[in-house]
Amino acid sequence: MLAFTAITILSSCGSQRGEEENGKINIVATTTIVADLMKNVGGSKVNVTALMGPGVDPHLYKASEGDVTRLSRADMVFYNGLHLEGKMVDVLEKLEHGGKEVVAVAKAVNEDKLIGSTEYASSYDPHIWFNINLWQKAAAYTAQELGKAYPEHKAAFEKNAETFNRKLDTLKQFSHSKINQLNPQQRVLVTAHDAFNYFGQQYDFKVVGLQGISTSSEAGVKDVQNLADFIYKRKIGAIFIESSVPERNIKALQEAVKAKGFHTKIGGELYSDALGSPGTGEGTYLGMYRHNINTIVDALMLE
Ligand SMILES: [Zn+2]
Repeated sequence: MLAFTAITILSSCGSQRGEEENGKINIVATTTIVADLMKNVGGSKVNVTALMGPGVDPHLYKASEGDVTRLSRADMVFYNGLHLEGKMVDVLEKLEHGGKEVVAVAKAVNEDKLIGSTEYASSYDPHIWFNINLWQKAAAYTAQELGKAYPEHKAAFEKNAETFNRKLDTLKQFSHSKINQLNPQQRVLVTAHDAFNYFGQQYDFKVVGLQGISTSSEAGVKDVQNLADFIYKRKIGAIFIESSVPERNIKALQEAVKAKGFHTKIGGELYSDALGSPGTGEGTYLGMYRHNINTIVDALMLE
């Protein structure tokens, strides 16, 4: 009986979750976008580290040795899922099998709301954060999962998620009213890779990515020609580069359109799979999203 009590006390006051000295829950997230969600929902209870920095492409990212150490020391690991982090699947699965609490935020979204894709082993497009409605579900899900692991902070996580979701409501209103400045014919978004299908789903945009959904397949000459034909026929005035994808393919596309006798301009840089630098406006999800909306609408309106 005594031995049993001793063990119980040890395991309940021991640092089995490895909480840091400052008492915060140590969370490791894969992308800057997932890390932003964790900061918003975890608030003052968590310390969040993102493995990937600004401008890093999650489709191609491989975990370094340092990453594996950070992941194994984390109290909880959050990632996007649906094979966004296509080269980290094994590492994440190993952690989970080893007993680590590993959460894919995409689990928040019901399959009927996901956009199908043959590009991924998951069969779905992973870029869910571009539909704000889905990101609100991800926030509520994050609060739920954090609350399960740390019931003592459950109420705080739920309150944080509600606060964040209200900000997302405001962002939605802003986005819809800005996009309403474009007529339906102007709502065509051509970017470096297919990250914006959920954006298209939310705002009734036709979305075309030069590189298919994942950046691991290089755009071929035929893809460039087909898309150049499309831009020429539709007289699309602007196409967009992305911060986490090299711009050479979009430049090649612009040249191919020029060869047909039409000028399409580079409408600016969009943030797709990574946020901007910390401390800048685009370093948060809310700022990144506003930047994208303003860049897209301003460029396409000036046709
Ligand atoms: Zn992507």
